[in-house]
Amino acid sequence: MSRPVFTSPRAVWLASLLTFGVGVAAWAQQRLGYTDTPFLPGGKWRVHDGDRPQPRIVDPGTPSIQAEPGRPPSDAVVLFGGKDLSQWHDGKGGPSGWKVEDGCLVVPPAGTPGGGQIVSRPEFGDCQLHVEFATPVPGSGSGQGRGNSGVFLFNRYEVQVLDSFDNKTYPDGQAAAIYGQYPPMVNASRAPGQWQVYDILFTAPVFQEGKLVSPARASVLHNGIAVHHAAEVLGPMAHRQLPKYTEHGPRGPIGLQDHGNPVRYRNIWVRDLKRYDQAGG
Ligand code: MG
Repeated sequence: MSRPVFTSPRAVWLASLLTFGVGVAAWAQQRLGYTDTPFLPGGKWRVHDGDRPQPRIVDPGTPSIQAEPGRPPSDAVVLFGGKDLSQWHDGKGGPSGWKVEDGCLVVPPAGTPGGGQIVSRPEFGDCQLHVEFATPVPGSGSGQGRGNSGVFLFNRYEVQVLDSFDNKTYPDGQAAAIYGQYPPMVNASRAPGQWQVYDILFTAPVFQEGKLVSPARASVLHNGIAVHHAAEVLGPMAHRQLPKYTEHGPRGPIGLQDHGNPVRYRNIWVRDLKRYDQAGG
């Protein structure tokens, strides 16, 4: 008489393997994000919730900027035009250690003097920001460790830069997320090394006597695809915490994040947004 199937060594081995596989899959899903962070407004998802649905992938269509950087509008403040770092400092007013290579602004290797977040000298309030970037080739690392950088309005409100072409992470931390708050509506990421674009319309928050009167709002196009539409920004970038506004002036600098990955930038410009009757000549 043969043994019952569930006690045969082969069946036990297969069952163990299956259990192990299911466990690994659950663990892999779990490690996309966090389960011990506070709930965002609405109470459905936690900050960096790995179970939040992954944004749908959308092919952004025919690239229009792959060969050459675009030419800025005539009324833009050009923060990086391919040549130098004259519009930037290291966050303390000193020279930045970021590199200019082949007309690109590149996050420096770890330990480079003057590394860390790079901050623009000009400051802006309500503005239109154009940034072109490319994540490293070959792509290396995973999750938040793959092509991570970030575009910071007022050097504090982050639109995430990440290689999200074939790299899952918690959705509020993927490329074009308003980090820790809103996943992009869709994932319009291009492959590592391809030039990508963020066009951001940003409305500055307003404070009066230390209190927030109206929050910041952000609309973002990623490679021409709308991924945020007048999203109410909940506060400055925060990791594993709910964001919290602190009062600041009506204008602030643009920051780019050094997260240790050699992300490349080019053609960075900003236009002040003023009503035509307030803009002067
Ligand atoms: Mg980042």
